[in-house]
Amino acid sequence: MSHDKNHYILPNSQPIGDLDCREAFANLTEKEKQYAHYFSKAANNGGLIALIQSSPESPLIFSFLHRIFLAEPIEHLKQSVLQNGITEEEFTAFLVYACGVFANAGNYKGMGDSKIVPNIDECKFDMIVQQTKAYKADPSKMEGLFKKIRKGIFELNDSNLVFGFPPNGITTYWSSNCTKEDSELVNEWMTNKRIEPYMCRTFKTIENEKVVYDVHLASIETSEKEGITVPDEVYKGCVFRVTRGDYSSLLQLVNENLAQAQKYAANNNEEKMITHYMNCFTEGSLDEHKEGSRWWIKDKGPVIETYIGFIETYRDPAGGRAEFEGFVAMVNKESSAKFARLVEKAEDLLKLLPWKSQFEKDSYLRPDFTSLDILTFSGSGVPAGINIPNYDEIRQDEGFKNVSLGNVLANVNKKDPIPFLSEEDQALLKEYKVKSFEVQVGLHELLGHGSGKLFRIDEEGEFNFDRENTVNPLTGEHINSWYGPGETYDTKFAAMGSSYEECRAESVGLYLSLQKEVLEIFGYTDEKEVSDIIYINWMNLIWNGMGVALEMYNPQTKQWMQAHSRARYVIMRVLVEAGEGFITIKETEEGKNLLLTIDRSKIFTVGKKAIENFLLKLQVYKSTADVIAATKMYDYYSEVSAEGEHPWAKWRDIILLHKKPRIILVQANTAIKDDKVELVTYDATHEGYIKSWIDRFPDTKVDDILEALWREDKKYFDS
Ligand code: ZN
Repeated sequence: MSHDKNHYILPNSQPIGDLDCREAFANLTEKEKQYAHYFSKAANNGGLIALIQSSPESPLIFSFLHRIFLAEPIEHLKQSVLQNGITEEEFTAFLVYACGVFANAGNYKGMGDSKIVPNIDECKFDMIVQQTKAYKADPSKMEGLFKKIRKGIFELNDSNLVFGFPPNGITTYWSSNCTKEDSELVNEWMTNKRIEPYMCRTFKTIENEKVVYDVHLASIETSEKEGITVPDEVYKGCVFRVTRGDYSSLLQLVNENLAQAQKYAANNNEEKMITHYMNCFTEGSLDEHKEGSRWWIKDKGPVIETYIGFIETYRDPAGGRAEFEGFVAMVNKESSAKFARLVEKAEDLLKLLPWKSQFEKDSYLRPDFTSLDILTFSGSGVPAGINIPNYDEIRQDEGFKNVSLGNVLANVNKKDPIPFLSEEDQALLKEYKVKSFEVQVGLHELLGHGSGKLFRIDEEGEFNFDRENTVNPLTGEHINSWYGPGETYDTKFAAMGSSYEECRAESVGLYLSLQKEVLEIFGYTDEKEVSDIIYINWMNLIWNGMGVALEMYNPQTKQWMQAHSRARYVIMRVLVEAGEGFITIKETEEGKNLLLTIDRSKIFTVGKKAIENFLLKLQVYKSTADVIAATKMYDYYSEVSAEGEHPWAKWRDIILLHKKPRIILVQANTAIKDDKVELVTYDATHEGYIKSWIDRFPDTKVDDILEALWREDKKYFDS
């Protein structure tokens, strides 16, 4: 089967944005700058792990491209290739491909999970490679590397278009002989053993005619250790073991820099936090990361905010295994003041949600909520807001932090037209997008992810809720399901879990954005402006759900590849289903285009009612661990049908014709000159973006490491 390459390239017009943090960085003291510098280095070195967690070829593609751009200035390379049969356009395509690999931690999109291939033919790519100084200096080395990754770079086939289990996708969290069934068995064993999967990968082998599952933990240490590794154990006829030492050499670099950063910590909390993170990375102990996260929560309102480790589980097809990420950011004072006011009102606002207080946490734990300007964000992409830690027991009992990333949100493309909207709506969206998104992100993170209780029973048979007096509002009956010992939301809701939770948080945002007092908190009181912001907030979400989300749906496998996209599509479907002329979507230009219109006079009636009913179901199913009902509802709204009044499967093709590439953000670097830390910034161009990566890793040490790790892994993956 052939695949339309155009869906998998980044166009030459790939926009690059500036992740501007100059002002916030300039406000730091020298000590704070030192802390930011070393923590950034830890984050960046650890971020290379995300390459290994992507596709088997990603670490080598990175080292190959990095060696090329390290060896000579881009201008120099450009001159050589233009004199040797390459056009300017072809060279740009080469640069854009490199930007894509660096920005997404490999050749699969951080947002969307689909493969990225170069926008030039293999022979042209080849011609460019042969003109590089790196190639000319060591042809056998570069030829050897290229040979190993050539297929991975260019080939598109049914089994490598997206992340997933074979035969429908690829993953490196599991050896390539693992299927979904293997993952279910492994998850079952791990749940029984009370081992959470965040830091592991699993490799299946055959030893003495027995199936062996090696649950391999990330750590510097490689030896056995009681309490962390587990010797061979037979379960359901298969051998299970836990070993450690994954990414050892990269974690070593992480810890070296964390140790340096620790010298400049602002307080005892930060020192302790770093000690436990380092223990985690040394030993492969998730408990140590949880301990570090506890100290991190206690570090309220720091000038420099950070987090590092195996955090988000979006890219594991089985859910649960987390990508390495690390970030360093500075507080944006103005925006943070608004979020602090939202936190103050949180208890009152939670009461407005469509469920009774028994479905809310026993006492609301006020999270730290700030707006940050990102200096460094490593991993497969930069989000607009974060709510961490992800550990259920810490979130429920001790708290969490929310951050909104101000300099990420501020990057709005005001030049290009926005598809599927009238001129008037486009103008309104451009004008109010940043303001409405700030409101939505605040509500999403703080009252969305921050709300709701999980009903559970502990090992002693004690319930954490009042069974006598708690009624399921959907059935009118007593609560008859809950989380058992060792069960978490993530393991219970598995692959659907992160999207379902994003959907809940987005729905809370829409619902509460209708409250005047919320908009007042953000400084909006003018009636016309308030009305426009609410309209744009709803429109932006519905527009994303109809016009962007379907890019992240694979019609062949009928699978959604991205948690947030699926969530927005689901919400859009719920609101379209509400009917009464609230939302109209129709074909225009003889079926070549679509037009979305929203009757803004019905937001407070039809729209509000629909989201209220839906949100209540989302919460009740989540609280009661009712995965069956949740799956039934969520799958129903996630369906992409070719039939009916809204033939989404057919419209997906129209939507793809109008799709816009996701902006890539250039991050600054820090460097030490004369014992002082300086900020180094770059042009928001393809060249500037690549330059930032060369300065970040100014020699081939990381390439050697990545190549060695690739050789270790090779036996587990089909090539
Ligand atoms: Zn979220």
